[in-house]
Amino acid sequence: MKFESLTFDNGFARLPEAYYSRVCPTPVPDPYLVCYSPEALALLDLDEREITRPEVIETLAGNRLLPGMDAIAALYAGHQFGHYVPQLGDGRAILLGEVKNAAGAGWEMQLKGAGRTPYSRGGDGRAVLRSSIREFLCSEAMHALGVPTTRALAIIGSDHPVYREDEETAALVTRLAPSFVRFGSFEVFYYRNQVESIRHLADYVIARYYPELKGLADPYPEFLRQVALRTADLMAQWQAVGFSHGVMNTDNMSILGLTLDYGPFGFLDAFDPDYICNHSDTGGRYAFGQQPDVGAWNLTKLAQALVPLMSVETASSAIAEYPQAFGRAYLERMAAKFGLATGSDAPPLIMDALQLLAQNRVDYTIFMRRLCDFDSSAGAGNAPLRDLFLDRAAFDAWAARYAAALRQQGPGAAERGAAMRRVNPKYILRNHLAEIAIRRAADERDYSEIKRLHALLARPFDEQPECDSYAAEPPEWARKIEVSCSS
Ligand code: AMP
Ligand code: MG
Repeated sequence: MKFESLTFDNGFARLPEAYYSRVCPTPVPDPYLVCYSPEALALLDLDEREITRPEVIETLAGNRLLPGMDAIAALYAGHQFGHYVPQLGDGRAILLGEVKNAAGAGWEMQLKGAGRTPYSRGGDGRAVLRSSIREFLCSEAMHALGVPTTRALAIIGSDHPVYREDEETAALVTRLAPSFVRFGSFEVFYYRNQVESIRHLADYVIARYYPELKGLADPYPEFLRQVALRTADLMAQWQAVGFSHGVMNTDNMSILGLTLDYGPFGFLDAFDPDYICNHSDTGGRYAFGQQPDVGAWNLTKLAQALVPLMSVETASSAIAEYPQAFGRAYLERMAAKFGLATGSDAPPLIMDALQLLAQNRVDYTIFMRRLCDFDSSAGAGNAPLRDLFLDRAAFDAWAARYAAALRQQGPGAAERGAAMRRVNPKYILRNHLAEIAIRRAADERDYSEIKRLHALLARPFDEQPECDSYAAEPPEWARKIEVSCSS
C-alpha cells in the first residue's frame, strides 16, 4: 500500500482541546532516511519501498502533512523523581494522526523531535541522532523479545544542528503505539481539580483500549485494576530480561502497560540489582532492582488521580493486587528461563542463582543462555557455565541443587533446553553495540550497522552463529559510556 492511501481516524484529536494543542511540526532542511523497521511498516500495511520515496521522507521529517492528519501535542503532567511537575506534555513529540490498518487495528503515528510545542518549556523540541538510534533499535528489539512497547517505524536525519553538550545533528523517530496516554495524562487534571476531564479521558481510554469493561455499571475501579496488572506484568518482563528504563517518572508510564520513552535505558551486562543506567540518577531512585517498587509507587499516583471517580478505599484496593501479580508474573518468567516448574523448589534456586551472579559479577544474559545447555547428570562439570564464576565452589554447590531439581522433574533435557532458548535471548541491545552503530552513523554517515543490529535483534532467540561476537561481554572501553536524559 502507498503512504498517501493510509486511512486516518484520529480518535485522540477528536477529544476536547483540553487534552492537547494543535501544532505544526517545524520543518528540517534536507531530510534523509537513516533506517526503518520492515516489521513496523507491515503494521501499517505499507509496502517496504514506500519508505525511500522523497514524499514519505518529507512527511516523516515533519515537512509536509498528508490529508487526514491532524497534528497535535498532548498535555500531561507527572511525578519526576518523586516531585510533582504540573506542566509537562509533548515537548518535542507531535502526533500526526491515527492510522487504521486493514485488520482494523489503530496505530497512532508520532514524530519525536519535530520541533517546539506549547509544552517545550525551555527545550528546543528536537532530538539528536544518537538518542534516536537508541530509541529506534531498542523499541524494535524489545518487541522482538516479547516485551510490550511502543514501536519505531523509521529515523529521518537532517544536518540541522542541535546543541547539547556538543553540537550534534537533528533526527526524528516515527513512533507507533495504539495510544501514548500516560499516568501523567490523568494527573494533570486531578491537580487542576478538573474532574470531568478525568472522567472523559477515562471513558475514552476504556472505550478504545479496555472495551471489555464498557458494559460494567462502574468501570473505573476495574480499569485501574487492569492498568495495575499490566504494569505488574511489564515490570516482571523488564526484570526477567534485564532491562532498566532509567526514567520511570509517571509521565513515562503508559496507561496500556507499554515500555514508553526510551532515554538513558540500559540492559544489564553483569547482574547487578544496583545498576543505574541513567548517569543523572545519582541517588539510584530508578536503579534496576527498584523498578518493581517504583511501578507500585507510580500506580499510587495514578490511583490518586482517579480518586475523584471512586472512593479512596476502592482506589487502593484496585491496585492492591500489584505486589502479588508482579511476584507471580516474575516467578513464572524466571522459572521458565531456568527450565524449572513453578513449584516450591524454584524460588530459592532462582534467588540464590541471582545472588551468586551479583556476587561474582557474572554477565546475566550469557549465564542464562549457557544455562540452556546445562547437563544435569551426576558428575557433569558444566565448564562453560562454571568458568563464569570466580567462586567455583559456590557455583558447584548451587549447580548440584539445580541438577537435582531438574532430575526430579524427569527427563526431557533436549526439550527443556529448546524451551529455555525461546525465553533466554542470545542477543540484547547492549550499550556498546548501540554505541558502535551510533559512532558509525554520526562520524561516517554509514547506517549499515544500525540495519545489521536491527536485523540481528529482530531474532534475539536464534543462534545466528555468524554474529557470535554480538553476544559477547562488553569490551573494556564500554565502561566509559555514559547515558543521561540530555538527548
Ligand atoms: P523525558 O524525561 O525525556 O521523558 O522528558 C520529560 C519532558 O521534557 C517531556 O515533557 C518532554 O517532552 C520534554 N522534553 C525533553 N527533551 C525536550 C526537548 N529537547 N525539547 C522540548 N521538550 C523536551
Ligand atoms: Mg517522557
